[in-house]
Amino acid sequence: MEFSRDMYPYQPTWSNTRINLLQRCPRAFVLRYGLAKLSENHPQGQLLSEAFAIQTPWILMHQIVRQVVLDYVEDYANGTVWSHELIRIRFTKDYAQAILHRNQRIEQFQQYGLEQTLFQKTQPEDHLIEMGVDSCLNLVQNQNLVSLLKSGSIERLQPTNSIVKQNIRVYCSPDLIHHGSDGTSVIKLHLYGKISSFENVFQASLLQEYGDRNSIVIQFSLSRRKWFVHKFKPNSIQRKQALNIISEDVKQMENAFWSVRKNNDLTKVPLADTYRSCTSCNVRFICPSRHGYEQAKAEQRSLMCQ
Ligand code: SF4
Repeated sequence: MEFSRDMYPYQPTWSNTRINLLQRCPRAFVLRYGLAKLSENHPQGQLLSEAFAIQTPWILMHQIVRQVVLDYVEDYANGTVWSHELIRIRFTKDYAQAILHRNQRIEQFQQYGLEQTLFQKTQPEDHLIEMGVDSCLNLVQNQNLVSLLKSGSIERLQPTNSIVKQNIRVYCSPDLIHHGSDGTSVIKLHLYGKISSFENVFQASLLQEYGDRNSIVIQFSLSRRKWFVHKFKPNSIQRKQALNIISEDVKQMENAFWSVRKNNDLTKVPLADTYRSCTSCNVRFICPSRHGYEQAKAEQRSLMCQ
């Protein structure tokens, strides 16, 4: 069986998560979106999927910030306004729950008999709870969000909402859509740092596809508990440029899938460019770099020359 041919997705798919992982490490990308998906009914595929599902406490904290804020907005739209104390209680409870699930996943994972120290179980840490609560409170008091909540109507979108553009399935869903007297606004929360002005325009150009040609895209990005707001209405050139970028990204993804050769040979799928990517990699335990990154890179370079 030629594995790469089966791995190749029937419909090309783009998402921020996919392209970010590909850019960080083509090998990890192929393992996650190729091998793990293709062999999800086999023990090795399950092992990979479970490894990728274990998130760090830091990532979980940010995911819970999004969840709590969106629940707050949903209830607000239905006429119930949460107190700050309720936000604190909800965040603390949901975060503890997320850490508990993570620990359970780690216990299950350990049944595969791998090294016990691969993933460490943990308890909710106070400084992450404080950071998460502050981030939620700062957003629900942000004047831009407050004025959206006070007028018109607002609806929550699921991250699984996708669109198809140029035969590519694109997952880039806004978190909220606001309908006001001056039109529709598309709203997105970016949780992992302030994004560059190029990225703001690129993301806005994709996000606007969920509204209409006159929709304003409002992006909130979180950095050190502070929210930065970017409002933008992309034009047709910027929308076209964004679609060109995702087409190029998809070509890179296809190349990564095709670099898997017959008999599931991953040896020519490139490893990460820097060791930094490996330090937080969930699948390091099956990667040659676990025995030394420099040596694995050198061995791969010599293979590529053959
Ligand atoms: S350990 Fe490093 S090289 Fe290996 S898959 Fe992970 S990020 Fe890529």
